[in-house]
Amino acid sequence: MKQLIDPFGRKIEYLRISVTDRCDLRCSYCMSEDVEFLPRQDILSFEEILRLAKSFAQLGVSKIRLTGGEPLMRKKLPELIAGIKAIGGIEEVLMTTNGTLLTQYAKPLFEAGLTRLNISLDTLKADRFHKLTRRDRLQAVLEGIAEAKKYAFEGIKLNAVVMKGMNDDEIIALTDFAITNEIDITFIEEMPLGEVGYDRSVTFLSSAEIRSVIEQKYTLLDSTYKTGGPAVYAGLADEKTKIGFISPHSNNFCSSCNRVRITAVGRLLLCLGNENSQDLRTFMRAGCDDKKLTDKLIDALRLKPEKHDFDLAEEVQILRFMSHTGG
Ligand code: SAM
Ligand code: SF4
Repeated sequence: MKQLIDPFGRKIEYLRISVTDRCDLRCSYCMSEDVEFLPRQDILSFEEILRLAKSFAQLGVSKIRLTGGEPLMRKKLPELIAGIKAIGGIEEVLMTTNGTLLTQYAKPLFEAGLTRLNISLDTLKADRFHKLTRRDRLQAVLEGIAEAKKYAFEGIKLNAVVMKGMNDDEIIALTDFAITNEIDITFIEEMPLGEVGYDRSVTFLSSAEIRSVIEQKYTLLDSTYKTGGPAVYAGLADEKTKIGFISPHSNNFCSSCNRVRITAVGRLLLCLGNENSQDLRTFMRAGCDDKKLTDKLIDALRLKPEKHDFDLAEEVQILRFMSHTGG
């Protein structure tokens, strides 16, 4: 079987697909209030996404994460998930969501075969949630988490981006919430993706600082737990919850990178922190056959850089917003 191996010997087994750039929230670190969404015809259709998923599976990809924007903005998402799950070689289909629509969708997602669910939650305070996301939807997210817990997903994990002066006083409260709910939580360092109207070097908090706050209350145990993503995990004595740290700045995880991304408009992105890409949508819409498509994917791997280079002291280097790329 042909495989996707980059010039640095890394094997690609994990694909993240942004299924839309649209979202019902406007998180201040992710997009501006007056964001303009892309025309619908520019976004990949479900047929195009399934075709790409199949080509990647033929090249050894076994794990696909759907993200966005907010993936649940695509109303028939469970159908897409069932379609991807049915592709030979695909073992896991995961999704990252803001959780606002989970009361409605948790059941159909589970029935469609979704393996794991990441739910973003940066605060437990309603007024702060409103300020951070520019929408008053905390209660919907909390109810969505409760609903998702009713189904036997292989894992539910919270994702929290921590920013100094914005939500860093809730690190313990978020950890406690994860423990009470017996789910995992990952704390993420903010990444400089897109111009968002404030100086990210002021709000930046490193994973080491986040960890030391948690250690004021809990003893963190070394853990070898891995989910195939960039997070490094710690365990807690007597608790089921694992605590993850994603450190794009302070702990460059590029040497073990096993993933590539497809943006909502079908651009294959070889690295989150780099603009190298291939336009797969135009290629598919021009009528390429399946062999040409897999050859194109294999060839694109030469564009994967050895590592990303985020520097907070520089002007914004990556003009893409996370919502276009998929987190
Ligand atoms: N809308 C979904 C959600 O919020 O979970 C999925 C897409 S969102 C872009 C994926 C993840 O990226 C979220 O956990 C979000 O907090 C994170 N994110 C967005 N912008 C970020 C940034 N500049 N730095 C770090 N994480 C970011
Ligand atoms: Fe929407 Fe997710 Fe971006 Fe927040 S982080 S604005 S929920 S895409």
